[in-house]
Amino acid sequence: DRIIGAQETADDIYTLPTVRPQQITEYIGQTAVREQLQLSMDAAKMRGEALDHVLLYGPPGLGKTTLSNIIAQEMGVTLRQTSGPVIEKPGDLAAVLTRLEPHDVLFIDEIHRLSPVVEEVLYPAMEDFQIDIVIGEGPAAQSVKIDIPPFTLVGATTRAGLLTSPLRDRFGLVQRLEFYNHDELTQIVTRSANILGMHAEAEGAAEVARRSRGTPRIANRLLRRVRDFAQVKGDGVITQDIANLALNLLEVDQLGLDKMDRRFLETIIHKFDGGPVGIDSMGAALGEERGTIEDVIEPFLVQQGFLVRTPRGRVATSSAYNHLQVVMPEEN
Ligand code: ADP
Repeated sequence: DRIIGAQETADDIYTLPTVRPQQITEYIGQTAVREQLQLSMDAAKMRGEALDHVLLYGPPGLGKTTLSNIIAQEMGVTLRQTSGPVIEKPGDLAAVLTRLEPHDVLFIDEIHRLSPVVEEVLYPAMEDFQIDIVIGEGPAAQSVKIDIPPFTLVGATTRAGLLTSPLRDRFGLVQRLEFYNHDELTQIVTRSANILGMHAEAEGAAEVARRSRGTPRIANRLLRRVRDFAQVKGDGVITQDIANLALNLLEVDQLGLDKMDRRFLETIIHKFDGGPVGIDSMGAALGEERGTIEDVIEPFLVQQGFLVRTPRGRVATSSAYNHLQVVMPEEN
């Protein structure tokens, strides 16, 4: 596992005390999303209705699960959590839906991974709070409509483009989470340090934030490593020096690139003259699978402007040369 990977690991989940915000006032950043949700929640409460279904999309680790917790908390209802791959059969989803209490929040993570037959059950559930259940088998089989309590579906996905349009159209609120800026991440690190019983100096928190790739989950993970370092090698305070030393030891550089990112860029620059180079040649040179390159390594490098994908292949940009302190050859 890469320390700068945005996917959740066991280490993230079992840290105590939890640093996950419980209330909307503790949720830092994503101002537009928060305001929109707050308005819709206030309106739903005034009408005494369940909140409209909400679709949250964006890269992993930006706070989709956290927000679904907060929605349930603010609405004063119970949160039921599941995920697309876990719901295998229509009956699995029917079982979950029939057990809901009125206005409960049902959170389905990775909702783009629901199978088509399961999705079919969701349509009338979302629209009319009804499900069709088939009772019996063969010629005697009968379809029965069952009412379910009005509920709020909160769907989360990293790949909104993979959602079918009938499903997407049934969400009243569709919100995209953005990467966090430096100030917001610094606030998140400072808050988490407090919860973990540590003091982070402003510059120390800023250093962790700078290397967190815009992602709170990574910020919290780096913070936990810096905390260990501060306790063992320092006097427990997270200063900029301590953060620097700890993060250099983890080989996470000043812009949040790790060894694998740098090896990727170095390979293009040194072995392929900066590109363009096809993805399969890169895969062979690095001994990595195409999928890993496309989904795990490239997105951040592209987003940071170190790499461009052209029809003829991948090209390292001048920022990549600068960052790696390699002189870029003159065009001729
Ligand atoms: P996602 O579901 O999008 O993958 P999570 O909701 O699990 O992400 O968030 C990952 C972690 O990042 C959470 O445990 C929480 O501690 C932290 N986090 C996410 N969003 C925020 C935020 N807005 N403010 C503070 N911490 C946050």
